[in-house]
This record gives sequence, structure tokens and C-alpha cells, in this order.
Amino acid sequence: MLHFDDPVTKFPKITQARAKKIQTLSIYTVHDLLYHFPFRYEDYSIFKTIGEIEANETVTLQGIVKKVTRSRAFRRKMTITEAYIDDHTGTIKAVWFNVFGPLRFLAKNKYVQISGKVSLDKKNKLYFQHPNFELINKHQFESQKKGAGSQLAATGALIPIYPETRGITSYWLRAMVKKILLLVQFVDPIPHEILKTQKLPPIKKALKTIHFPSSLEEAMTAKRRFAFEKLFMMQFKALSIKQQWEKNKAVKIPFSKTTITSFVKSLPFALTNAQRKVAWQIIKDIEKEQPMNRLLEGDVGSGKTVVAAMAALSVITRKHQVALLAPTEVLALQHFKEFLSLFNSKKHSVALLTSAHSKINGVGSARKTLISKLRNGSIDIVIGTHALLQQSVSFKDLALVIVDEQHRFGVKQRAYLQQQTIIIDDGQDKKIPHFLTMTATPIPRTLSLAIFGNLELSIIDEYPKGRKKISTKVISSQGREQIYTFIKKEICSGRQAFIIYPLVSETSKMSEVKAATEEHRTLQEKIFPEFKSGLLHGKMKPKEKEEIMRQFKNGTYDLLVATSVVEVGIDVPNATVMVIEGAERFGLAQLHQFRGRVGRSAYQSYCFLFTSDNTPLTTRRLRVMEQTNNGFKIAEADLKLRGPGQFMGTLQSGLPDIAMESLTDVKLIQTSRTEAQRLLAFDPHLKKFPSLKKNIKKMEMTTHWE
Ligand code: ADP
Ligand code: MG
Repeated sequence: MLHFDDPVTKFPKITQARAKKIQTLSIYTVHDLLYHFPFRYEDYSIFKTIGEIEANETVTLQGIVKKVTRSRAFRRKMTITEAYIDDHTGTIKAVWFNVFGPLRFLAKNKYVQISGKVSLDKKNKLYFQHPNFELINKHQFESQKKGAGSQLAATGALIPIYPETRGITSYWLRAMVKKILLLVQFVDPIPHEILKTQKLPPIKKALKTIHFPSSLEEAMTAKRRFAFEKLFMMQFKALSIKQQWEKNKAVKIPFSKTTITSFVKSLPFALTNAQRKVAWQIIKDIEKEQPMNRLLEGDVGSGKTVVAAMAALSVITRKHQVALLAPTEVLALQHFKEFLSLFNSKKHSVALLTSAHSKINGVGSARKTLISKLRNGSIDIVIGTHALLQQSVSFKDLALVIVDEQHRFGVKQRAYLQQQTIIIDDGQDKKIPHFLTMTATPIPRTLSLAIFGNLELSIIDEYPKGRKKISTKVISSQGREQIYTFIKKEICSGRQAFIIYPLVSETSKMSEVKAATEEHRTLQEKIFPEFKSGLLHGKMKPKEKEEIMRQFKNGTYDLLVATSVVEVGIDVPNATVMVIEGAERFGLAQLHQFRGRVGRSAYQSYCFLFTSDNTPLTTRRLRVMEQTNNGFKIAEADLKLRGPGQFMGTLQSGLPDIAMESLTDVKLIQTSRTEAQRLLAFDPHLKKFPSLKKNIKKMEMTTHWE
């Protein structure tokens, strides 16, 4: 008997050497191995006789081996095995070009079952090239018993194809899984009741059918169950974090109508409806004693800063402190300037603390002074980078933390700020700050719900009026010259351009630096010799990068060539052209981020997506960019076309494939959330469900939580 938690080596057929190899696939325990799901199935369920088969069919047949020959192809150090198989309706040849273990059992007069695609040889004769085969017994042959091969499950059915690694083939995995399924004790992490209401198969059935289904439909049902399992656990975890969070207390910030109204009136523009809506959600949240934990999503330029400022203003009006955390110097500085211009510096004191700057209300201040003023409460708002997270920084009365571009901070860093508790009155009633995190990565709502299940969500899905649409065009190889001419014209009239290169593929021998340098040289010498272009790549030191960006900003360079690994985190309103090479290699969300670098001024801006790939899927994807500038629409489209994978990078998540695929399944996400909510109310510590508890713990170690 095997248990889920046993190391795979507990199963005698798996040697230490193999166990080491499958670790590359993150497989350590029996559970891991059984949860290593096939990503597709080969359909070998159609049986035919040799007399019936035709070229290009994928079939299974049974027969007797009449002859086996083994020879060596000298030049390629390869062993060729040929076998002639007869089933009374005809004879057919099968050929294998390399040695694989089981081939040594192939011998004259053995009974075999063969699955594969029928090919035509040079003489127009049918044969099998490298088919799967299994030995069967005489009885199976004579009774023409059809179905999955008994031992290895490589023929005669839907055959699972797994993610493989060196030394670990699907062939081997199938054999191991098949045997282990007979020996293992199944423990279902999902409560029986829930499976029943959701009409999902129990673990034993689901594991058997996800590996060895008798129909694709059966496989899908099993897949759905495991997707549910994962989502359910994620939701349970998220909701229990949320529940814990809500047990904390925060300072109530009563809405100050006059202050906010006059602030909004003082703005040089009218708020968009979306801004109003989300500002109101935040204001309502911080009125409560329960700490807010809200994610504000809004595309670049959608106007998140003003919303954050309204929240900050509410807090400082009530004489509490606010901290705003930005991921880079540049962004911190930008926010600082904006806040200074938004707030009356006579009434409020706004500070900046980064590794390079220490300022109060625009005037330089000693670091020590600034820190002591944070502690005694005479600074109302501090804006900073990681420098704010030092031990020496503490607050008198921190009631709101705003984190910009939240994904760029680690979970630990954010937790650190959360723990900046403020002690009120008798020193016992601990309060934590309200939390507002912001992101410019538009993530479809369902995806957010699945990943940030513990956060409340506010979305700005509308742009300030009067913004010019960035004119976007997909350009195939033929269109290149014309675009270069266009860019020259733009530069001649004083504008600047970005050219982004995709990260050079890892298989290519050329290093990123070398490739980027070469591209840059070609552009400089051959295409734009009359202009000056700068180069930015991932291997540069931060100081070097900053210097190049500064020079682009001040106009020393007309063009900036950058590899995609570089975050071009600068605001250069004068740049009006964004060229992206190899555009098909990027997710739409990412292309959208790049495009957001232009269109920041009154000038009309352009984005050109260069691609040499004109397959229908790529064309359809890239056309979405031409059709809309709305980041949420793009994200939704991308989610449909490419799945959630590309959002994950930015979200720092280690989700397994099955959960990823299911992230497009709105209904499944919602039901998993509802069920998790119910169970959380009934048994918050999972006392009655130890197996679920264990599985969630295990998942925590591989998934990053917001
Ligand atoms: P982001 O969401 O990317 O942080 P910002 O808050 O920096 O966007 O806003 C981008 C620009 O739009 C800023 O210059 C800001 O002053 C301006 N802005 C914000 N809201 C509006 C609005 N409702 N109407 C016009 N301009 C606005
Ligand atoms: Mg911003």
C-alpha cells in the first residue's frame, strides 16, 4: 500500500536515479506523481485489421510477429528495428529508429498490439513508423479483446501524453502511474458533500480517468474536478486570510465632505465617472473600523494618483499619517511632485524619502530629521521607495498605506508596512493602517478574483476625456521601409521614437547584450545614420540605465533602442513612436504596457507592431491592438486567446497548469468561491478536514500570496 505523502522511491520500480530525474518536474511524492497530469491524449482507440487500414490513419491493430531484424545505420549510430506483423488479413512492417527498452522483448511468434499512424514508404507500401506497441497474450489476440493494453497503457485507447524531461518519457510515466494507481490509498481533500453538490467525481475515479480516460469527455470531467480542487483551495486560503485581516482594527476616517468637495473643485479637470466610483468605494471603506484591503486597478494614465490623493487627503484631514510606497526612485519623485502640487503645503507637510532624496515640502532635509518627524507625527504624508521599509522608520499615527505597482514589492515588504501598528490611548487597542494597493496591469475581473481573492477590487476602466488614441498598426516585413521613412519624418519634426526588441531566445547562442548591440549598430549605421540612438539592455548597471534614459529624455538621443527586459519606466512626452519588433512574441497586455510609453502629450502618437508571423491566430491577436486602446478589453481578449499564463509573470504566482487553464472559467471560479465561503463559515480551521488542510499548506509553499 502506498500513501500520497510517500516519496516516489517507496514504489520499488522507481530507483533513486529516476527519482532524481523526475525532481526536475517537481515530482517528489506519490501525490506529486499522480498529480502530474497529461497535457493531451493520443487517440488510439480505433481498432482495425491490417486489411482495412489506409495511409495516414491513426489506428490500433493486433497481430503475430513473423520476423524481427535489427541492424545498425553506421553514419548515425542508430539501431534500426524492423518487424513484420501478420493478423490473417495481411502483413505490415513496423520500423523503429532507435533502441528503447521494451523493443528487446519483440521476437518472432510474439503477439503484439500496435498503435500509431500508418505511413507510406518509398515503394507506396503501408507501414508503421515508430508505433507504440505492447505484448499481449494469445488469448487476447484470439478473442480479439480490444482496449487499453494491460501493462503499459500505450496502445488501444486514449493515451496520455505528459510534460517530459530528460530521462523521463511519457512511456515511463504511464507505466508508473498505471501501477501506482492500483496500490495507492486515495484520500480526497475535497469534502464529499461539496463534490456531490457540484457533481464532480471523487478522487479515485478522477485520478484514474484523468490519466487513462475511456473518452475525452471523461477526461474533461476529471480535469474540471482538479481545476475546482485547486481553485477551491485557493479561495479557501484567500478568504481565510481575508477573515483574519478583518479581525484587525483600524482608525475610522469619517468622510470630510467639505474638504473632498473643495479638493475636487480645485482640480484642473473633472473626474471621470470611474474615478468617482472608486474614490467613493475607498472613502466608504476607510470610514469603517475594519481595515481596508483594496486593490485599485487602472491602466496607465487612467488617473489613479488623484484617487489615491483623495484617500490620503481624507486621512490627513483627520490628523493621521499616510505612507505611499513606489517601486522606483523615478516614480516616487513623480508622485512627490504631484502630491506637492495637489496639496496645500502650508496646511500639510509632504515628505520624500528614497535612497537618493530626503525632502520635506520640496526642501532638502536631513534624513535623521525627516525620520524623527515621521515618528513625532509632524509629517502628514511620506512618499518613498524601499527606503521607507528600513527598521529606523516608524510612525506616530500611520492610518493609510498606499502601494503603487504592488506587484513589484514582495509579500514580505508589504507585510512589514502592515505591521506598522499604531498604538492608541491605553496602549492596548492595536490598530493597523488601511491598505490601498494599485496596479497598472489590467487584469480581467475573474482572474483578479481568483488570484487576489482576499482583496476588495476597484477598477478604473475609463480614461480621462480628450486623450488621443494611439494609432496602432501591425506591420509585416514588406511594410518596414515605409515605416522607417515615417519615423524619420517624425524625428525631423522634433519627435522621438522607442524601438523595443524581444528578449533573445535562450537557445540562440548569442547573448542578449551582443544581439542588442548588433541590432543597435545596424539601426544606427544602416537605417538611421543621420540620427542619434541610445541603447538600453538588461545587463547594464542601474546607474548606466538611468543615464541613458536621462539622455533620451533631454533629447540627446532621437531614438532609444531597448530590449524588452528593460522597464522603460520614464515619462518622455516628446516620444511619439513606439516600434515593437517580433511583436508576436509578446502577450497583448505586455504590448499594451509598451505602447503606454507614448501618447503622453498633445502630439498624435503611433505604435508599430512588426511581425513576420502571419498565422491567423497571431494576426487575430495583434489586430486587437489596432482596434482598442482600452487595457481591460485587451486583457480580456488576451485571456481568451492565450490563457492566463502571461498575466502570471507580473503577478508572481506559481500556479500549476490545471489551475491556470481554469482561470478562464468564470463559473468555476465563482462556485469554488461560494463553496469555500460556506466551508470557512462552518469549519474555519478545517478541524474536520485534515487532508484539505494539509493540501492547502502544501499549496502555500508553491504559490505566492497577495
Ligand atoms: P496613472 O493611473 O497611470 O497613475 P495618473 O494618475 O498619473 O495615471 O494620471 C495621468 C494624467 O492624467 C495625470 O497628468 C493626471 O493629472 C491626469 N488626469 C487624471 N485624472 C484626469 C481626469 N479626470 N481628466 C483629465 N486628466 C486627468
Ligand atoms: Mg501612476
